[in-house]
Amino acid sequence: MLAETDPGLVFAVILFGLILWLVIGGLVGASIGRERGRTSDGVWLGILLGPLGWIMAGQLPRTPRAEALYRRKVELELEKLPAEEAEQRARAEKQRRLEESERRAREEAARERRIKEEQEARRRRRQEEERARRRLAVTCPACGFENRGMARQEVVTCSKCGAKLHKQAGSQI
Ligand SMILES: [Zn+2]
Repeated sequence: MLAETDPGLVFAVILFGLILWLVIGGLVGASIGRERGRTSDGVWLGILLGPLGWIMAGQLPRTPRAEALYRRKVELELEKLPAEEAEQRARAEKQRRLEESERRAREEAARERRIKEEQEARRRRRQEEERARRRLAVTCPACGFENRGMARQEVVTCSKCGAKLHKQAGSQI
């Protein structure tokens, strides 16, 4: 039975399955991502990871616009619910909004921290460059000229006035 299976047919079935996976994965991912304001993220997650991608798309943080739309939708729904249920739902929504704003605050703090770290790293790099530059420079006490690129020698000759300089002390010898 298995031996009689046409390889072309097997290939067609696999190809069809693959296309189906891509189309369904992408479409479902798109509709889940759209609700979070992230349609294209949803499409890619659905295509690459299938149902796992759908779950991930549903966990994406909403864009500010999607969040505003969601809040509006919830408020409209609350108006239609019986009082007790609405109250419960409103409490849950309040909690959700609190968590959402905390999440945004954490993100903002992390972003600021990253910027500070980058600035600090740049500052340190500049400081290090300045130190390296100083190490290589000898100011001549006789004429005040800053002899740069004097590198490793202990004793250097001022390129302006010809005085012999001791590099470490920057003094004339
Ligand atoms: Zn000099």
